[in-house]
Formats: sequence, structure tokens, C-alpha cells
Amino acid sequence: MSGDAARRFPRSFDPSAHERELVAIVGEIARAPRIDAKRLDRALKRFPKDGRGLFSRSEIISGFRHFRARYWPDLDEPEFIGRLRLRPVRTRSGVTPVTVLTRPYPCPGRCVFCPNDVRMPKSYLADEPGAQRAEDNHFDPYLQTWNRLDAYRNIGHPVEKIELIILGGTWSFHPEPYQVWFVKRCFDALNDYGSGVDGRADAGRAPMGFHELLPILRGAPGSYNQRIRARRTEEFDADGLHESEHASWQGLREAQRRNETANCRNVGLVVETRPDHVSNAELHRIRRLGCTKVQIGLQSLSDEVLARNARGCDVAASRRALRMLRSAGFKIHAHWMPNLLGATAHSDAADFARLFDDPDFRPDELKLYPCSLIESAELMNYYESGDWKPYERDELVELLATCLERTPAYCRVTRVIRDFSSADIVAGNKVANLREVAEAALRARGASLREIRAREIRDSAFDVAALLAVTDRYVTSIGEEHFLQFATPDDRLVGFLRLSLPHGEAPLAELRGRALIREVHVYGDSLGLGRRREGKAQHRGLGRRLIERAARIASAAGFRRLAVISAVGTRAYYRDLGFADGELYQHLDLAD
Ligand code: SF4
Repeated sequence: MSGDAARRFPRSFDPSAHERELVAIVGEIARAPRIDAKRLDRALKRFPKDGRGLFSRSEIISGFRHFRARYWPDLDEPEFIGRLRLRPVRTRSGVTPVTVLTRPYPCPGRCVFCPNDVRMPKSYLADEPGAQRAEDNHFDPYLQTWNRLDAYRNIGHPVEKIELIILGGTWSFHPEPYQVWFVKRCFDALNDYGSGVDGRADAGRAPMGFHELLPILRGAPGSYNQRIRARRTEEFDADGLHESEHASWQGLREAQRRNETANCRNVGLVVETRPDHVSNAELHRIRRLGCTKVQIGLQSLSDEVLARNARGCDVAASRRALRMLRSAGFKIHAHWMPNLLGATAHSDAADFARLFDDPDFRPDELKLYPCSLIESAELMNYYESGDWKPYERDELVELLATCLERTPAYCRVTRVIRDFSSADIVAGNKVANLREVAEAALRARGASLREIRAREIRDSAFDVAALLAVTDRYVTSIGEEHFLQFATPDDRLVGFLRLSLPHGEAPLAELRGRALIREVHVYGDSLGLGRRREGKAQHRGLGRRLIERAARIASAAGFRRLAVISAVGTRAYYRDLGFADGELYQHLDLAD
């Protein structure tokens, strides 16, 4: 098997060759009243694999599935896997995220802080964990999705409800045929994996040729875009696409229809773009693709800072983009960068305050990316000339603590650093747990966090009867936003709904005159579709109750119809609640 093939099709593990050891290990795990890392380690060492190495968690699960009927017919699989899954963090927010990267492609931006790694889509480095997986899968959407689902399932994570996060450069700059093909292939992988089909042998046909060309590209003169364009061969068309990277809208619609009832359903789809690439046509296109959330780089709310960093778009473009995205119901996941060229810790604190004081912004989710210097970025020149330097550690921690403290209850701070390895960072933060450090600084001030991530119930048990219905209202550029919550008496967040009551004209005709549900989220472990588990938040009818509350509020505000920006895999759920399919959204008539 070649190196490439071995990466794409990892050698399969045969449990029957290790029956004695696996039966002993599984038996030990099943019998123990409680399993922790130490106890598991002891069992693994007592029954080594091939007399030497240790079995991996995925191999133990594979052994459990293989021998279950013979040895433990009454042992519940989710319960057994739950015992093994010592770090269930990734799926705690209720859905399992699958991140895939588009392939290297020119980007319209020239931002001075942005890395230029020609092996990767713009702004990513080959050392980042998600980027490595993408490269191993030749940036093929089917292989990335299928293999990620398989990896999740092998370590015991549920794969029934999937949020697809498509990252890389500027999504909207990719030619439409590539966008349609990329998303269709992700859906194909979800549909196939859920029905036990392995279509990997037919995937990954575009000849990326990165490894062969890398020495040439690295040494080649010119910008990232010039070098990526120079990589085209006669096998790519004028748009830089390979003949295999095309799909029809009809083909995508069929894959989406199949996904509505598939075993691995798409419950959210995210793309990332620039503010100046948001237009009516783009809103319509990404909605047709099934998109529900947009990651958007604001980076700064100062025109001066944006200009110094060669962002190529101004604050007015960010205002316009967020207004349009919100009017079309998309969840808004903003990126904001302190320590850019021309900023100070003082100006950054004021900039961040504008993010929530100004109704034109007020994002739903936020990534804080303190600027770090990467050797391939143009910022290197400013560093060498002394025009830019990273904030001192304490200065950065204090600034981030201030940002976290000022983040309101309706926003979720998803990250406070980029996933760059410290080896790639020439200058800037290298503290991996910067969030914890900033939160500790915040608590030392006697302040507390209101942002969503700090309040999520995660997998703690709670009493449904004691839940409180809480609503935060705030004004946005398009009208009034209601953030409906279910919270425990000690203020842990169990579920929430984002309801927009717009005042003006919606950019998409289908939404005119409608109130709009932009998000419904109920926390708890990501349970399988239709499964219930005692003490967990999902599948307790909390989503339905939130939607009923939203309908009452919209009706009282004079709206006759309520629309929802549903994901492909949640359409059936909304139909059950009385919503009817429109072209891009689903709609509910409200009683008088
Ligand atoms: S738009 Fe984004 S990806 Fe493109 S250069 Fe700027 S930061 Fe990098």
C-alpha cells in the first residue's frame, strides 16, 4: 500500500485476532462500578496487544461490537461507550462538529497578518490539527467527512447529528461549481456513512500535487495567490478547477433530500467569508447550499486599523454584511483580532466595547484571535522594522479578561486563540490555555462571566420542573432580538432560541413580513436521533417549548408568519411542528 493510500484507508483492525485480550478488557470495564483513566490503563497493561503495545480506545470499542452478541448480549452499547469516553467535551454542545477545509485557492484579501502557507487554504498552517487531517485527505470533501465520522464513531462519539464547518480562505471567492460540488460531496459522505456505504475509493481524484510541487512553490517568488495560480496544470480549467470538482444544483438537492431522513443528519452548515463578499446573490446561494451560520472576519471596528493591516474593506462593509446576514436569518460567528498593526491594548478595549454597544454588530458567537506573528506573513516586515510588537503577556491577559467580562449573555465566545503550534509563532502568545488564564484574571477582579459557553449545562443533570424561562431583549440593526432561554435556578443554560423581529424590508423576498427563528439549541450530550436519556437536556421537548414561546412573542408583536432557517437535517423536525417548506426557509402561520 502506498503512503497516500495508507493514510486514506487506514489498515483495518481485526478483533477476532485478539479475542482473549479484548474479552478480558471489555469484561473488566463492564464489571467495574466506575472506570477512570488509571483503572483503564491497568487493564490495558495487563492484557497487551500482541504482547507489547496497548489497545486503543477505538480497538476496544471495535472488540466490544464484534463480540457483543456472544459475550455481553445485555450490555447497552451507549452505556459501555460512555464508560470508555473519558473526555466527552467535543459533543457536549449537543451536536458533533465535523470540520473540513477547502483546498488551497487564491483569496481576494491581502491582510498583512495572514499566513501564506501554499500547502493550505489561505490563513491556515499545515501544523494545525484540522489542517493536517485535510491534507491527509487531499482536501477532498468526501474523504474528510467520511473519515472524520469514522474516527468519531470509533472512539464512541455519536454521529447522528452533525454540524459541518467548512473552513478555508474566503468561501465566497470559490467558483460556484466548486462550492456546489464541495457541499454535495460532504452530504454524500454523511448519507453513505449513515447507511454503511464506503465510497472512498471513488473520491479524491483531483490531482492536487502539493507534495511534488512544494519545493518549487516554497522557493517561488510572488504572493500566495500568484504561487497558487502558478500551480495550475493542464488538468485544471480557467477557474482553476479539476474536471472532478463539479456538481449540479440538482445533484446537491437530491443529496440534501436523502439527508433529511439519513442516519447521519446535517443539523448545521457553516462557511467563512469576508464582509465585502456578502451580497443578496451570495445570501441566496449559501442558503441553497444549506448554510445556517456564517463565520465572518471583522478583525477590527477601526477604519484606520483595517487600512494599516491592508484588510481591503472598511467598517461600513462589516455593518452592511452583518445587517444582511441577520436579515436572512444566519447565525453570525464573528472573528475579532486584538494586537493588530496600529492598535494598542487601550484602543482594543474600546474597539471591543463597540462590538456590543453598537446595534450594528452584536454577534451571536465570537472568536478572539490575538494577532500572532507567523514567518510567512507580511507582518514580519513590520516586526523587523519595530512597527509592530506583541503585547506583553500580562497586558494581553488583562485585555482578554476585559473582553470576556464585557461579552453579553446572548453571545458565545468559542475561542480566544488560534490553533497555531508554538513552533510556528515567531512572536506573540504561546500560552495554550490562555482562556483559563484570562478567566482566572477576571475572577480575581471579582467579575463573572455571562457569555454562553460559561453558562452551558453540558452533561450535568437538572430538574426540568425547576427550569426558569428567561428572555434577554436587545436592539440590532434590523429590529429587535429576543434571546429566549431555559436556565436552572443557579443560572446554568439548558437551551436557547434566537428570535428576530425585523422592522424593515428583508433582503430575500421569502422572508418579507416574517418574524425569524435564527437558532434553536438545547444542550446535553449529542444523543442519537430519537433516543432519550434520563437527566439530559435534549429530547425533552424543550426545543418545542422554546419555539412555542417564540411564536407567541412574534404573534403578540403583530407578525402573521414565523420563518425558521432550518438545516437540511432538521426540516423533518420543523414539519412535525407544523412548519411548511418554502424555497429556502420553513414557515409557520401564527394564530390571530
Ligand atoms: S481575507 Fe482572510 S484568508 Fe484572505 S488574506 Fe485576509 S485574513 Fe487571510
